[in-house]
Amino acid sequence: MGAFHEQVRGPAVPTPVSRAVQRPLGIGEVTITGGPLGRWQEINRAASIPLGLVQMEQAGSLPNLRRAAGAAGGEFQGYRFQDSDLYKQLEAVAWEHGRAPAAEYVEFIDQAARVLAAAQRADGYLNSHYQVVKPDRIYAELEYSHEMYCAGHLFQAAVAAARVGVGEELVAVARRFADHLVEVFLRGGDDGIDGHAEVESALVELYRLTGEGSYLELVRKLIDNRGKGLIKDSGMGPLYAQDHLPVREADTPVGHAVRQLYLEAGIVDVYLETGDESLLACSVRRWEDMVATKTYLTGGVGSRHDGEAFGERYELPPDRAYNESCAAIAGVYWNWRLLLATGQGRYADLIERTLYNALAASTSADGVRFFYVNPLQRRSDLVEDAYLGRRRDWFACACCPPNIMRTISSLGHYVATTDDRALVVHQYVPGAIRSGEFAVSVATDFPWDGRVTFTVERAPEREWTLSLRVPAWSAATTVDGRPAAPDGNGYVALERTWRPGDTVELELDLTPRLVHPHRRIDAVRGSVAVERGPLVYCFEQTDQGADVEELALSPEAGLRVLDKDDLPGVGRTVLVEADALAIAQPGAGLPYLTTPSDHLATSAHVTATAVPYFQWDNRDGGAMRVWLPLA
Ligand SMILES: [Zn+2]
Repeated sequence: MGAFHEQVRGPAVPTPVSRAVQRPLGIGEVTITGGPLGRWQEINRAASIPLGLVQMEQAGSLPNLRRAAGAAGGEFQGYRFQDSDLYKQLEAVAWEHGRAPAAEYVEFIDQAARVLAAAQRADGYLNSHYQVVKPDRIYAELEYSHEMYCAGHLFQAAVAAARVGVGEELVAVARRFADHLVEVFLRGGDDGIDGHAEVESALVELYRLTGEGSYLELVRKLIDNRGKGLIKDSGMGPLYAQDHLPVREADTPVGHAVRQLYLEAGIVDVYLETGDESLLACSVRRWEDMVATKTYLTGGVGSRHDGEAFGERYELPPDRAYNESCAAIAGVYWNWRLLLATGQGRYADLIERTLYNALAASTSADGVRFFYVNPLQRRSDLVEDAYLGRRRDWFACACCPPNIMRTISSLGHYVATTDDRALVVHQYVPGAIRSGEFAVSVATDFPWDGRVTFTVERAPEREWTLSLRVPAWSAATTVDGRPAAPDGNGYVALERTWRPGDTVELELDLTPRLVHPHRRIDAVRGSVAVERGPLVYCFEQTDQGADVEELALSPEAGLRVLDKDDLPGVGRTVLVEADALAIAQPGAGLPYLTTPSDHLATSAHVTATAVPYFQWDNRDGGAMRVWLPLA
């Protein structure tokens, strides 16, 4: 393979000489055996990926590439970035093969690689849309062409295949294309930049796999040249593609959310491999602004449908929230790199919030329907809406489903890290974690129950640290019955000479809680939401005895927990109930009065029932609200 250092089986693996203070573990070193994340991995393999593989033919990704190779006729199908769906699907299949080997996965990778090799031009260029439809416009309209974006997803698929020991031809195709990009955009002096960031992080990963320094050099150039007006206006303006300011000067995330967040992942990757502190500093500055002013309770980002974009600060409407599933994924990738760079638990906290809410809601309980858009409220009028209605099995623009699949296949990568003296656990899942000489098993029913029991299976004959994240939401955390005292990074570090059979019991506080929004979030001012542990809750019409749009909660409302082994359509869950008011007000005439609206309202005492947000829209599909007004 020619890899220049030992490859961890995961999607973001800094080199040993990088600035990473934490090193990732491979998907073979972390086994997830249950809980919502384990269940998601099961349905991803059993239902989502088979659906995706069918779509690679039906939606045109593979047929388009055969057309580019001259091996098939007919019209080009789909969008100009149709190749990228195949690349994400290949990456999902590769990680899945790494989790549990399957000959059919290797066969799919090899067959697709042969199609790609046949389609690839002799100079290394590869993009079915431009080869079939617009051969005279290659690299001429980078502001919207997605050529480097598609290339990036190819590189990530190839890196995944190589790290799980397959896909030799796929890696060869990827390297030829990467070398072509270097020829044109680094050595050839072309200052073009793709309007959709993605290739940055992917080229750093290909550098990590191969040791080819020109890939890293090209990324540095692409990042340093942003904000100089080198990306032509695609009609959406310079903010849309983050070309309004140099990356070191921009202080808040703007424009197309997925582009901004993939760009940030690339920026942190370049910091990790070059030590350029100015890149880490600017990315952290934007992260802090995003968290404080542009992040939904679910961890979702990108509040505007117009341009799939970040809104202004505190512009966070629950009903019109865009929150593309891909933005949640890109956010996890960015946070993960910041976590590796700094060791700070705040990034793992946001990964947890995003993973269990914005991202987990993207997929139905049966794994065959997906949300592209993830609002925090659905009005009953919108149940049939194409964008804000129910989950769908596929999309004309299908960026999200295969992106979800590759992320879920590689979830184990995001659970824990090591720094040679410690195993640092960031996410709590039942299963096993192994890092060199140290191994633990983890028993837990998290996030339904707060107890997490670690049992040491193997340990070195010297002091070793087991470090456990204390989530910011856990008000009263104990370790072996004593109050936990987290360090400055938010972890409890347990340093001792461990013996096999030693146990540690972490108890997280899952008392349900009411959450109040910052006063400047106008759209939900005067409302409250319910959370329990990492889970955001929502009120679905199907669980209420009154109209969900009329429900109001009292701040004193006692929240009651209802454990459900199997809620039909949903599966294992814990519901939260509260005493509430249903407040009805006549709807005739202007909906504005010179007296408080309560004046004409009638109210009734009712029980409001909340279900975890990630499990919504799995039953009859009615109205839903995360935020309820205060009574
Ligand atoms: Zn998407």
